[in-house]
Amino acid sequence: MTVKIGVPDTQSCVYEQGERVLMASATQAEADGEGLQTVPNAGDVFGDFTPYGVGGLGGSTDGPLEEVHVFWLAGMSCDGCSVSVTGATNPSIEELLAGSIPGLPRVVLHHPVLSVTAGAGFTKMFRKAADGTLGHPYVGVMEGSVPDDQILPEGYWSAMGGGGFDPDSPGDQPNRVTDWVKLLAPGAAAMVAIGTCATWGGIPAAAGNVTGSMSLTDYLGQDYRSTLGVPVVNVPGCAPVGDNFTEVVAGLLLFLQGIGPLPELDELGRPAWQFKETVHRHCARAGYYEEGRFAEMPGDQECLVEIGCWGPVVQCNITERGAINHMGGCMIAGGACIGCTMPGFPDKFSPFYKAPPGSAVSGTISRTTGAGIRRLRRMSQANLNRSPLWDRTGEVPTPYGRGMSGPTTVGKVEGFFYKRLQYRGSTNLAKANKTQPIPKSMNILEQERDRAAATRGQETT
Ligand code: SF4
Ligand code: SF4
Repeated sequence: MTVKIGVPDTQSCVYEQGERVLMASATQAEADGEGLQTVPNAGDVFGDFTPYGVGGLGGSTDGPLEEVHVFWLAGMSCDGCSVSVTGATNPSIEELLAGSIPGLPRVVLHHPVLSVTAGAGFTKMFRKAADGTLGHPYVGVMEGSVPDDQILPEGYWSAMGGGGFDPDSPGDQPNRVTDWVKLLAPGAAAMVAIGTCATWGGIPAAAGNVTGSMSLTDYLGQDYRSTLGVPVVNVPGCAPVGDNFTEVVAGLLLFLQGIGPLPELDELGRPAWQFKETVHRHCARAGYYEEGRFAEMPGDQECLVEIGCWGPVVQCNITERGAINHMGGCMIAGGACIGCTMPGFPDKFSPFYKAPPGSAVSGTISRTTGAGIRRLRRMSQANLNRSPLWDRTGEVPTPYGRGMSGPTTVGKVEGFFYKRLQYRGSTNLAKANKTQPIPKSMNILEQERDRAAATRGQETT
């Protein structure tokens, strides 16, 4: 598949990424007669035609950039994405804000919840970005879905600040977030949608909603490109893993600096390395699935597929990365996957906590084969839980292992064939264990007791 990325430049560049080719073609859109959207405010920073940076990787050659502003817009949002991001550790928000990561510019974050300024003081920088007087490159971040309030003659579903956008005719009406997006997106170095609401529509776009909510890409259209030619970058999840977002921002900043490539995105604009694997492949409970052992109720430790886990088909990396700082995450915390990172969420995954239809086939196969596999594994495990010395003495001499025996007759037969397979084509050096002498000082305290008793007996006689 080929994704064309319009870049205001006369050069072109091809990135080979597996089967995919990203073709950054400078004036492709213009050649098509469509034209890139006008760039009202990036010219001062990036030049009218953005040349490729170091090594032809893209980004700015006017660097190193000292600061990049991030404008956070909240649409139909619960602020859960913001909470997630504040928990990110790799990199953390604090590191990005402090500019302490080598090679990255300092991030100046304008966030409706986290910023200390409020009111007109807070929206002032948004206005500067919108009218092209900010003087620094900026990235726009959308949290929450985009409501369909542009169709309303007046009113809004989500708003930020007030007074209108025309300085000559100030009013007191709240400013629609959808207007801010329209003003900021064309001049942004990149637009990032965070969370499933902004990436796909999410819960506010579920059946029965009255807001007509949609994703940022739905709103801006598939031809949208940032000033650096980047389509909307999507980091889904409800809420997303905070590190997924900060990692992507760090990657984009390296790209802006001209010292890194554009992060690899998949066909839906997701960071490809974060969303190409399924939950199931890295799940801590995947072994139970394979052995055909399934939870019957929340709180059970086995695989959760029969109580509604969609992990085998859902693309999400929380099982690799954890929720925060490599800890927690849905299955670790006992939760079945309800597909919150997927474009079909929530409607296509409902009713939640009911076994997905596909699990009937794969679950039955696992249950059938798993019973036999578990038995074979128990036998191997019993063997591997005995040291070679214990095999020779025929007992397991630990206080915890009282009652455990040496190899049974069945175990010896199984061990014989197992070893034939294990050492096929290689040398069984461990075979020499059979002729190792039993250590003489084994069970030394009993030996001492016996010696003392024998000495006492001799004295008595
Ligand atoms: S709990 Fe879900 S993701 Fe984990 S093994 Fe079971 S089906 Fe797969
Ligand atoms: S495992 Fe499933 S429910 Fe949990 S975060 Fe990933 S996609 Fe969402």
